[in-house]
Amino acid sequence: MEIRRNPTRAVRIGRVTIGAGERVAVQSMTATHTQDVEATVAQVEALHQAGADVVRIAVDSQKDAEALAQIRARTEANLSVDLQENYRLAEFVAPHVDKVRYNPGHLYHHERQKPWQDKVRFLVDVAAQHDCAIRVGVNCGSVDPAVAEKFGSEDSISPMLASAFEHCALLDSLGFTRYCVSLKDSDPKKVIEVNRRFADERPDVPLHLGVTEAGMPPDGVIKSRIAFEQLLSRGIGDTLRVSLTVPNSRKPEEIEVGRQILADIALGRVRSVVDYGLSTLNIISCPSCSRVENEAFVELAAQVKEMTRYAADHAITIAVMGCRVNGPGETDDADLGLWCGPNHVNLKRGGEPLGAFPYDEILPKLKYELDSLIARRTTAVAQ
Ligand code: SF4
Repeated sequence: MEIRRNPTRAVRIGRVTIGAGERVAVQSMTATHTQDVEATVAQVEALHQAGADVVRIAVDSQKDAEALAQIRARTEANLSVDLQENYRLAEFVAPHVDKVRYNPGHLYHHERQKPWQDKVRFLVDVAAQHDCAIRVGVNCGSVDPAVAEKFGSEDSISPMLASAFEHCALLDSLGFTRYCVSLKDSDPKKVIEVNRRFADERPDVPLHLGVTEAGMPPDGVIKSRIAFEQLLSRGIGDTLRVSLTVPNSRKPEEIEVGRQILADIALGRVRSVVDYGLSTLNIISCPSCSRVENEAFVELAAQVKEMTRYAADHAITIAVMGCRVNGPGETDDADLGLWCGPNHVNLKRGGEPLGAFPYDEILPKLKYELDSLIARRTTAVAQ
């Protein structure tokens, strides 16, 4: 099947170029603790051997940055780094990677008095100095609050777009065009809409596609496939990541699944679109990364899926997140949200915190909340 790709500009990431009609690059991210150099190198290499074009690593501290230098020395993989709140770490990590990803929604945490534009200028200078590309990674769960407050709470797409557009405009005005953009959500329909709208206005900017917190296979694969089919078949997307909640040893599946989806689309083997979230239970869970503080998280995600099977016919969303960094924000849109700490799992009903519970107590608590929610909805329908 001949797919006419959007006329995006070329962006080089190490030895890989995305955009400008190049083959769609497939990426993944490590889920080991970055300071565990042995484990992280092993996972980077496993992903590299599986065909990853770029491997991303999270860096949250100076010690992570020091570990990154050792990891760089031991792998040929193209490396990207995921910066969270401390944007100034960029100057320590950029010498060791090929791309720096920043989230516009996290720039305000440090040096609050400093305008975000100055922080982006700093990132651009560092990237240019060290031959790095940049990804502007906009995420539904952490949109810049200053942008979000300009829109109604029911509209999650427009703030993401506004944030992406203003960062593109600044990067362009600085003469830095070696960047791509990602606009991620856990709902494949929103991923489709936000990326289509972005590409309508900025067909020149390469897009990194992904459904965040897609969950475990097979659901996580299906959600990613739905979004990617709709976008790639319209020529939108230059690189992608399939985010799956799987144990560390199975992380290369993210690459295999990504390549399989691309091969199927190229052959026109496109599946029908599943109507997500309208009438069935929707479990979303993050793919895990180095920020996970208790590896029981992956097993917990599987147990939640198993335990909640009886509620399959209810339009309820349950989010299970691996850490305390992004968990609180990423569960905001769920009916019931869980996020994991070292010893406890936090539980939330809509926006209301319900407390933190030991790992061996969380499932009964969740079941109680799920049953109560179903009962309330059943009563409301009957009235
Ligand atoms: S929710 Fe936390 S652990 Fe999960 S992928 Fe996001 S940052 Fe990593």
